[in-house]
Amino acid sequence: MTSPVQAWVAERTGLKERLTAETLKTWQMERVKETIQYAWRSCRYYAERLQGVDTKRLERMADMQHLPFTRPEDVALRPEGFLCVPQREVSRVVTLFTSGSLGRPKRIFFTERDLEKTVDFFACGMSTMTQSGEKTLVLMSGATHYSIGDLLQKALARIGAEAHIHGNVKDVHSAIDAARGFDCLVGVPAELMYMARTEGDLRPKSVLLSADYVPESIIKGIEDRWKCRVYTHYGMTETGFGGGVQCSAGLGYHLRDADLLFEIVDPQSGRQAAPGQYGEVVITTLSREAMPLIRYRTGDMARMLEGACRCGGILPRLDKVMGRYANTIPIEGAKPLSIHKLDELMFAVPEIRNYSAKLIISSRANVLSLTVDTVQDLDADRLSEYIKAYFGSGMDIRISRSTVSPFTGAAKRQISIEHQ
Ligand SMILES: [Zn+2]
Repeated sequence: MTSPVQAWVAERTGLKERLTAETLKTWQMERVKETIQYAWRSCRYYAERLQGVDTKRLERMADMQHLPFTRPEDVALRPEGFLCVPQREVSRVVTLFTSGSLGRPKRIFFTERDLEKTVDFFACGMSTMTQSGEKTLVLMSGATHYSIGDLLQKALARIGAEAHIHGNVKDVHSAIDAARGFDCLVGVPAELMYMARTEGDLRPKSVLLSADYVPESIIKGIEDRWKCRVYTHYGMTETGFGGGVQCSAGLGYHLRDADLLFEIVDPQSGRQAAPGQYGEVVITTLSREAMPLIRYRTGDMARMLEGACRCGGILPRLDKVMGRYANTIPIEGAKPLSIHKLDELMFAVPEIRNYSAKLIISSRANVLSLTVDTVQDLDADRLSEYIKAYFGSGMDIRISRSTVSPFTGAAKRQISIEHQ
């Protein structure tokens, strides 16, 4: 089945049967011009930043390069400077704590209409993996109005599917009990992996993993254990939560093109990457009311996939995100270390259901200390050799065993660093 996202884009852009990669780009550039004029008129930040920008020069995608980038630091520094509507029209504010050098939280604002657009896209995206009459369990935050769980529930109701919100998982066994009988489970990759390796009998039809990066080893691990299809999506608070979703062919994300423009740029030079080249994902919102973002640098590493999808989709897709530029740690005498690569290696080991990693840096040696939570006995020497075989000999590996809970609320996975 062709990804439902394409029909959604055709409908929401009004391009309908005229939709092609080219007509879409032309349509998007018109929305970019409108967004610039709106942002320039309505908020302090862009009134300054976009001064002197001639929108007449914006005809093709390459012309986006005339526009300045918006950096996460700019948002952290003065979020209110981005606000284009009066405070009373803001329906939800999301505060994001980042590990950036400023140490300030980012705040992202949404109006009711912004969130309505998210629900509209979620309804389309979820129809990829579930249908009328089926039941979905959301193992993520959901208690508050306009939380992800709440938005998903509204979206699923539109396609006649039932959604229950379990909320953030605190205990694996109660989550497993709660998940019995559901057709689709939505949750955090490492958490659902932990559930799958703890209990193989749970057999949902589909699983949606929600995070900006999902290791292949987790997808395969859950699919093997539960004999189900695992889907992933791309999105972050800044994209209005939803940004793109895989189709059943599983090759890249079909994008939310009616609301977002995606670019890939060289992270150093800032120039647009050649087709098919990896670079940083940059987004421009095309319809956002509360807080439009123009050329916002996400920090995510990915590339565009041009050409038709195996599902019949004709629009360019975003390939899977390879992690974040900021999270790569250079190690002397070894390959660069990142939680993404480590996750890929560690979760490929069937005995491991979770682990934590600490890098100890000293003048004598660099040591990667791994605490592994296993479902069966595991040969620590072999594991150590396997990790070393990938990263190289410039880093010693230390393995210990203990329970490591993946249920950390919203915290992103990371390698902790200790200097000795
Ligand atoms: Zn497809």
